[in-house]
Amino acid sequence: MSIATKPRCDLRSEYDMACPQCGQAEALSVEITCTATLSIDGAEAYCDHYWEEASSRSCDVCDHHGTVGEFRITSGKAVQA
Ligand SMILES: [Zn+2]
Repeated sequence: MSIATKPRCDLRSEYDMACPQCGQAEALSVEITCTATLSIDGAEAYCDHYWEEASSRSCDVCDHHGTVGEFRITSGKAVQA
């Protein structure tokens, strides 16, 4: 069984993320932070990247803007202390 044949999930199931305004969880834009190696050839980004609760995020459908924390689904799950 490979990843390619695995049924696709949405952002709701993968990241507990969805637009708080229209509810879609297929495509959200997020501001990420990553590290790059800068050389005379230019900057080459590392594979790892991350976002924070305060990173800006926007919905590709309704253009709702907010922070990652606002797009995180917390209902129905245990809230971490
Ligand atoms: Zn939306």
